[in-house]
Amino acid sequence: MGRLQGKVCIVTGGARGQGGAEAELFRNEGAEVIITDVLDELGQRHAAAIGATFLLHDVRSETDWDEVVRQTLERHGRIDVLINNAGIYARGKLLDTSLEQYRHIIEVNQVGVFLGMKAVAPTMIAQHAGSIVNISSIAGLIGAAHAVAYGASKFAVRGMTKSVALELARYGVRANSIHPGMIETDMITDVTGGNAQRHDRMAGAVPVGRPAAADEVAYLALYLASDESRYSTGAEFVIDGGVTAG
Ligand code: NAD
Repeated sequence: MGRLQGKVCIVTGGARGQGGAEAELFRNEGAEVIITDVLDELGQRHAAAIGATFLLHDVRSETDWDEVVRQTLERHGRIDVLINNAGIYARGKLLDTSLEQYRHIIEVNQVGVFLGMKAVAPTMIAQHAGSIVNISSIAGLIGAAHAVAYGASKFAVRGMTKSVALELARYGVRANSIHPGMIETDMITDVTGGNAQRHDRMAGAVPVGRPAAADEVAYLALYLASDESRYSTGAEFVIDGGVTAG
């Protein structure tokens, strides 16, 4: 029997990268999976390949969230897991970041997570069961140089997760955050600016000597999505090859 047998899981930003790997692993472990993303074609293709459902969804939109919850309940009748994974990165020093650019990152990475938790909470409370997994970053634990907005958004995700965990524990609903380090996805191109030397320098600075593949994070998400982690809530789970150990 799969580790998520019978569970209904929503994975935002699931068209590719870590969300894509999580969606695939969750399907392999027996879950019904709803992938959401702003990337329509890629999302459709990935969902078809793994036997998931795709919904076009901008995490910044409350009405989009209402629709994701409505359609998930219509198809499957429950929501067991929400992986708030969708996110964007942009390099930006304090003096080079406009208010508009700052707000844009906060809207996706922070407001998107807030709206997601708010959208699924009534269903999870009514079920007296649910696991919310918010994808933060090591940039939510330590300072991210030259990424003031991204760092702010990821610290916020860590804080929100703890507040919601305290609030919903009595209803059988858990919330935890994952803090990945350097993960080999499209986002790494944004982080390195597509510069191969910078990529290799970053990878060389990781104590284990390499970036992680997306599926290495997916296994941690699987644990937190499953009942195996039933005593964990409000906690931070770091997966960074040792970067924050020093
Ligand atoms: P990625 O760019 O491959 O995936 C992000 C996904 O989010 C994409 O499919 C994108 O289309 C989607 N997305 C962006 N804006 C959206 C919106 N408004 N609504 C819905 N979907 C949207 O990168 P990834 O590495 O897979 O990123 C997944 C998460 O991991 C992000 O939250 C990111 O901040 C976090 N993270 C990544 C790294 C890394 O090194 N790659 C490190 C730490 C944390």
